[in-house]
Amino acid sequence: HDAIDTRSHIAVYSEAEDTLYQRRFTPLNDFGSALESQDQLRLVYQPRIDIGSGDCIGAEALLRWNHPTLGAIGPGEFMPMIERSGLAHAATAWVLATALQQQRRWRDAGMFLQMSINVSAANLQEPDFATALEAGLKRHGLPPDSIELEITESAIMEQPVKAHAMLDAIAATGVRLAIDDFGTGYSSLSYLQRMPADVVKIDQSFVIGLERDVRKQALVATMITLSQDLGHRVVAEGVECEEVLSFLRQAGCDEAQGFMFARPMEAEAFPGWRHVPVASIPARSAQAHYAF
Ligand code: C2E
Ligand code: MG
Ligand code: MG
Ligand code: MG
Repeated sequence: HDAIDTRSHIAVYSEAEDTLYQRRFTPLNDFGSALESQDQLRLVYQPRIDIGSGDCIGAEALLRWNHPTLGAIGPGEFMPMIERSGLAHAATAWVLATALQQQRRWRDAGMFLQMSINVSAANLQEPDFATALEAGLKRHGLPPDSIELEITESAIMEQPVKAHAMLDAIAATGVRLAIDDFGTGYSSLSYLQRMPADVVKIDQSFVIGLERDVRKQALVATMITLSQDLGHRVVAEGVECEEVLSFLRQAGCDEAQGFMFARPMEAEAFPGWRHVPVASIPARSAQAHYAF
């Protein structure tokens, strides 16, 4: 808004600002047609690795938008805008339908991975969200525990009471819950105590650069212990190098996700990246696939 309001009386054209303006406002108008187009939106998938066995045990679905004139726009750029404009319902409906369909295909191909799907704060206010989720699972014949929903800690803290009621409803369906970007959302310890989550994902801002930052190390080690003592499985996001992985392993972290293993990839690339269907290899031999 600043770009318009503060400059509306200055008649100087700036191409740089015009581009900024376009990037901020055009995508919003175009998201509706993106949802209807067959080729602008897609999901890419990033592996989640069990640190103990080295096995890939899941995939996180991440939204990508190839805009017809602006090109590739990342979700960090457009999702906040989508969420502020009340389009989160439509966006998540598309993401859920696409990810559930992919999970069906992978299971049909003998690949039994956990599928993690990001949802927005606004989805937690939709009264029929849990029912729609269950209907989706049924339509694709998927067991609820093959799906995990990732909800950011800050999304929960926007309206903690309502969010908790919805989290309980989701948990009752058997779908797993992960608290995403943990450590950035100002949860009080009393909320943390009641969080009905299976998984806590430590935000990448604590993980990236951890190898040369003793304060980050102290925070991460404490977050791991605290979360595990409260009964959650812990995933570290943003694992980019072996030093970090080695620290996480010593600190007892359960899972890791990050560029060290793989960047998010197209659905078609995922089975090739694994070489062998995950369910068919014993955990120990899987270690040979990784450098640890
Ligand atoms: P997130 O859910 O915390 O996802 C992790 C982000 O970190 C992804 O960025 C991923 O590509 C990136 N990442 C993974 N490993 C590394 C690493 O080792 N180093 C670094 N520097 N980054 C890493 P992406 O795909 O751009 O997504 C950004 C955020 O957008 C996500 O954060 C999530 O909050 C949101 N988002 C993505 N897809 C969806 C979606 O389908 N629905 C909703 N509601 N939000 C989504
Ligand atoms: Mg996530
Ligand atoms: Mg995250
Ligand atoms: Mg994030």
